Amino acid sequence: MKLICANWKMNKTTKDTREYINKFLPLVEGVKDREIVLFPPFTSLCVAKELLENTNVKLGAQNCHYEDKGAFTGEVSLDMLVDLDVSYVIVGHSERRWIFGESDELINRKVVACLKKGVRPILCVGERLEEREANLTFKVVETQIRLALSGVEEYVDQIDIAYEPVWAIGSGNPATPEDAQVVHRFIKDLIHSIAPKSEGKFRVLYGGSVNPENASEFMKMPDIDGLLVGTASLNPDSFAKIVKSF
Ligand code: PGA
Repeated sequence: MKLICANWKMNKTTKDTREYINKFLPLVEGVKDREIVLFPPFTSLCVAKELLENTNVKLGAQNCHYEDKGAFTGEVSLDMLVDLDVSYVIVGHSERRWIFGESDELINRKVVACLKKGVRPILCVGERLEEREANLTFKVVETQIRLALSGVEEYVDQIDIAYEPVWAIGSGNPATPEDAQVVHRFIKDLIHSIAPKSEGKFRVLYGGSVNPENASEFMKMPDIDGLLVGTASLNPDSFAKIVKSF
């Protein structure tokens, strides 16, 4: 099933979260042929859990820690997220990689921890502008995927991948659907070569300046299985339009 995700990043108080969800749910009522997931900040998960119960919208978290519990000030464990009905976690978002210095090794630990707890990771990969200009897109994406999946290759059917070129995120300058398609095909071929039994069991989402106007063009591409939306997901009307655009 196609997967459409709203990554709110560091936006929205609990009050904003209530208002958003109360407005959003009627807009997507009855939509059953695609998975819709909201990723509020940690502080809004509890409120979102209550409002999303028994609806067609699922809950995700933007990050997690890989240890079960203990002296890790400021971190949130997967058990805490499972307790709040979180079924997806974004792992390795470029903002985590480039602002907070997350390494491929750390990202791998998080992927492994998610799989152990039965939470589906959405592994984000993508090249920076200088890497694209140096024709390194495929190499960067391949390295990020191989390192993130290290040791858990056979479980790739329990993971989704988001291709998010860093230069396209929050820039208003998305990849063309055709360029994204080429990278998505590359990612699928790569994963099939790493895990031959994975065919059709994981999804590859596109992210980076998706909006209600361009969403359907991405979704027309044969290997784009969903979208990870930031800025345009902050408004319930815009996000509902994206969800229903294809
Ligand atoms: P954007 O963010 O839609 O604002 O480009 C996407 C993302 O970072 O997931």
